[in-house]
Amino acid sequence: MAGLSTSSLAIAATPVLPGLGNVLIQNNEKLAILGGTAVREKGRIGPAWPYVDDQMVNAIVKTTRSGIWSRIQSATGNVPTFEKEFAKQIGVGYSVGTGSGTQALSTCVEALGIGPGDEVITSPYTDMGTISSILTSRALPVMVDLDLTSFQLDPEEVAKKINKNTKAIMPVHIMGVPANMERIMELAGKHGLKVIEDSCQAPFARYQGKAIGTIGDLGCFSFQASKAIACGEGGAVVGNDQALMEQCYTVQNRGASRKGRNETIGPKYRMNEFEGAILMGQLPGAKDRFLERNENAEYLIAQLAVIPGLTPQKKYPGTESSSYYHFAMSYNKEHFNGADRSLFLKALNAEGIPMGSYIKNGLHKEPWIQHVLGLDEYQTMYTKERREEYANSLDLPNCDKICNETLISFWGSGMLLGSRQEMDEIVAGITKVYENRDSLNKIKTS
Ligand SMILES: *Cc1c(COP(=O)(O)O)cnc(C)c1O
Repeated sequence: MAGLSTSSLAIAATPVLPGLGNVLIQNNEKLAILGGTAVREKGRIGPAWPYVDDQMVNAIVKTTRSGIWSRIQSATGNVPTFEKEFAKQIGVGYSVGTGSGTQALSTCVEALGIGPGDEVITSPYTDMGTISSILTSRALPVMVDLDLTSFQLDPEEVAKKINKNTKAIMPVHIMGVPANMERIMELAGKHGLKVIEDSCQAPFARYQGKAIGTIGDLGCFSFQASKAIACGEGGAVVGNDQALMEQCYTVQNRGASRKGRNETIGPKYRMNEFEGAILMGQLPGAKDRFLERNENAEYLIAQLAVIPGLTPQKKYPGTESSSYYHFAMSYNKEHFNGADRSLFLKALNAEGIPMGSYIKNGLHKEPWIQHVLGLDEYQTMYTKERREEYANSLDLPNCDKICNETLISFWGSGMLLGSRQEMDEIVAGITKVYENRDSLNKIKTS
């Protein structure tokens, strides 16, 4: 048999896979879904999430009693303090808090003067907030296909979609793993485009000596409950260009500058002091948790390298670290006796390992497109020819393949903070399913 042999895994005293530790797979153990014993009991991997401690609870009580609930009540309140501290931790000049990651992105689009008639190139494989931030300024989100193995937008596809109305590229660092920023920045430079990094999943990730979110003109983060730094709903814009960052402040402050002058069009996206209090409590351990996720992810990648048919998410040259909002791999069924991904995932879940397929379908498959193309403002601002071309260029086969067939992942914010024992259980579960691949087609599909 090629690859792993079942018998080698059964030698209890000296596991052949280094690091399997004390998680042992019994020889000939049946898959749990077919009546065998599961590798672990179902249940959470990693600590309770979001991270909470007494200091954070006390900070909320203190804020409640202080009466300072809005950021404009104090220049030294939680939100302004958090903005300074977050910028420092990321390693960037300025940061402006907002009510969500979507609001942060939307603030950037508006602050850069992108509006009706303009186009922004982005990924179809993302949170709807990415697309929404472009639409709320009545610009056109142009989605391009992905690199099959990195799940990131493919810069060569970006190059093909640049036209005279293109104003910006909005790369998404999906899973918190850096996109191909070298090539994206090259393209942006060549065509005079702005770059807004959707780094909502990628706080602290580093690429070619820089923090993700600080490479383009502006970067955005999300502090939604599932994200690595969380406050329920929250977000931030970061950047090094002081004037542009002041414009971001003005936009999210419903068009009013710090000097109190009402200058431009802007929604009210201000972060409130309660969110700031939670975030100040999240920050102290955030970097350590980031490092721990990297350690566990690297461990899993090394352990799983012996399993044919599973390929970890590709990283571009110069990727120094990743945030691992999700830990993702490509599944190749040819190495699993032809079993579809859904059978692999069913078997794995029955072993107590909660893995899934993440985003169900690319955003080019969702009904917003017909809605938007039918709106008066889009019909006025974009020619019939452009709208038809747009509707006819939504064929994104790599994205479809990733969504429908290949991507498997688990949520990393909490799970990658699990113990080494839990990481070994993940490896053992996957190894067991691989070892039993010949019986995957006995699983009933419902
Ligand atoms: C979470 C997320 C957003 C939106 O952030 P919210 O805080 O939920 O508005 C945008 N893009 C990506 C890639 C995200 O993961």
